[in-house]
Amino acid sequence: MINESIPTLSNWIGGENRASRATVFTDVHNPSTGEIIARTPASPADEVDAAVSVAKEAFASWSRTAIPKRTAVFFRYKELLEAKFNEIAELITQENGKTLSEAQGDLRRGIEVVEFACAASHTLKGETLPLISEAMDGSSTREPIGVCAGITPFNFPAMVPMWMFPLAIVCGNTFILKPSEKVPFTAIRLAELAMEAGLPEGVLNLVHGGREVVERLCTHPDIAAVSFVGSSAVAEQVYRLGTHHGKRVQAAGGAKNVMLVMPDANLDPTIRAIIGAGFGCAGQRCMAGSVVLGVGEAGDTLSQRLTEAIDRMKVLPTDRHPESDMGPVIDGAARDRLRQAIENAAGEGAQVLRDGRRRALPERGFFVGPTLLDRVEPEMAVARTELFGPILSMGRPEQLDDAMAWMHSSGLGNGAVIFTQDGGAARTFAREAPCGMIGINVGVPAPMSVFAFSGWNRSFLGDLHVQGTEGLLFYTRQKVVFSRWDDQYSRKLGW
Ligand code: NAD
Repeated sequence: MINESIPTLSNWIGGENRASRATVFTDVHNPSTGEIIARTPASPADEVDAAVSVAKEAFASWSRTAIPKRTAVFFRYKELLEAKFNEIAELITQENGKTLSEAQGDLRRGIEVVEFACAASHTLKGETLPLISEAMDGSSTREPIGVCAGITPFNFPAMVPMWMFPLAIVCGNTFILKPSEKVPFTAIRLAELAMEAGLPEGVLNLVHGGREVVERLCTHPDIAAVSFVGSSAVAEQVYRLGTHHGKRVQAAGGAKNVMLVMPDANLDPTIRAIIGAGFGCAGQRCMAGSVVLGVGEAGDTLSQRLTEAIDRMKVLPTDRHPESDMGPVIDGAARDRLRQAIENAAGEGAQVLRDGRRRALPERGFFVGPTLLDRVEPEMAVARTELFGPILSMGRPEQLDDAMAWMHSSGLGNGAVIFTQDGGAARTFAREAPCGMIGINVGVPAPMSVFAFSGWNRSFLGDLHVQGTEGLLFYTRQKVVFSRWDDQYSRKLGW
């Protein structure tokens, strides 16, 4: 039965709220309490069509708007985001459950992309080569591609949508965002503020929903490009469907990131970094450190220091306790899946040093305590499968070479980090690790906005990654112009 006191969220199309005709809804929770705070509609496909038609119409004038005018909107947007910084961070904490400081980091990373978008008058400059032939000049420019779509996951409600729409729009495209049905509020606020900053109606639209909306976005003939971030299984579906329908697709998927600790690592900062990488955002990060490898004698020291650090962690409801070190996971299904994963790992032979099911936890909400598994082997499922929760698996390879072999076992390729004082080991690691984002004495090497977010292997499908120069290339296409003008000088030379 529908509880009328729980708000049902509307789509945002052509600069106005439009109630969906959906008959199926997803409950949005406050993960710290388990309370239902809203319902997201599973919009039917024709509501996507309505958004595409509005976005297509808006493209005609927005793509011809002078670039300084486009960037002026993003300068104002940046100011508005700064003014509303705490309000948005609290919204993130409320619907996602991450701590307030993590929510601030989520938004800060998004704002950095807006700052990068503000530089479009410089970054979108083309190239020219005068006199490429007699009396002929050549130049190349980057042109917008049309209506673009973005499909985003629950774990970074601000940063991931902002990887996409600011760059797409500053390049002259119009955009349809399909945020995660689990965290719609932040996306709605980001869209409202973009309008307040001066985006014309129809340039940024928001359609809520699940599979039906995603499939329509991937197949609609008037959509030029699809950006996707989420699990690898869905990334693969989106990539296949979108490219089959002639679209550009960038699809970032899941991860299983390894943290390697050499015996000479500087221990205090290493432990802090591992705890942050393993349990930050309750392990719900595509750059989470999921497997820690204590090489040689590093193993014993690590297991002792990590258990001590875990015991000191405060796991509290993040909506009321800004001092919390770790919050809940996103929903009841995730909590139950993670509890089962601990059970399964123990069944495979992992030693459960700290068990997130047994720790004293807040009574309400979707909590799993920080968990440490030791004596994990590379062939175990727990070592190869993305768990996306606060479960850290520890392995004890003898040598750097054995540790490097672990990194090939998942087939995923987001990040890998090494902690060492040995430049040679660090260099070997950086060159040989089969993934696109490497940390050396850095826990979570998530690239800042001027660099691309560079997943490899099954962590990314496509040619051009999100963010940075690759982000701009993804949302533009190249035009090359050759011109020959009959001028006095050329005539004199007989050209
Ligand atoms: P998800 O794949 O369940 O959902 C992502 C998006 O796809 C959502 O908008 C959702 O509505 C939609 N979706 C879900 N199932 C679908 C289906 N069957 N058909 C079509 N669309 C569908 O992911 P999530 O649980 O929201 O997010 C967690 C995942 O995202 C993790 O695997 C994490 O590693 C990954 N992630 C990756 C990156 C990266 O940069 N590589 C960044 C953040 C998160």
